[in-house]
Amino acid sequence: MPDLSSPVIPLSLAHLPTAGGLAVPWITARSGGRSLFGAIDRDRTDRALTGRLCGVCGHRLDERLLLLMRLSDLPRRCTPEPALHPSCAHYTIAACPMVGGRAEHYRTVPLPLDPTTTAPTADASARHGAPAEPWFAVWLTDYQVITDHGTLAASYAHTAPLRIRPITWRLPPLP
Ligand SMILES: [Zn+2]
Repeated sequence: MPDLSSPVIPLSLAHLPTAGGLAVPWITARSGGRSLFGAIDRDRTDRALTGRLCGVCGHRLDERLLLLMRLSDLPRRCTPEPALHPSCAHYTIAACPMVGGRAEHYRTVPLPLDPTTTAPTADASARHGAPAEPWFAVWLTDYQVITDHGTLAASYAHTAPLRIRPITWRLPPLP
């Protein structure tokens, strides 16, 4: 029985495995046949960043691409997560409670990760249990691959983004 609360998986993502009614992004880590939402496969992530592949579908990016970024990443103008097709970013915003602003707090239970092959995603790496941060869609025509804190990252420090659009902006609750 399909989960009616899950967004419809677009045809462009029909090649991906699914878990709980959601398409599993190409860079999502897998362990023992299980998809580890909240963790990325380092090898696929590096291949996507350097090969201009989309982090969700794994196919080549077009002339318009997006980076989904946390507020705290914006001043540095780079993110360790690969760029996305606009349609793949749209699906991610609909499917991911953290990016889409439907989660109040970060995951409180750390994932069981093998640090040699996987890394937490930006939405899972922050302080466990901390309030969720606003996310932004940064529209670009290009990015540069840099090394940031020892890992590859997509940077737009060399170019002005076409547009930066807030995905969510939640005011903190009153004390
Ligand atoms: Zn894509």
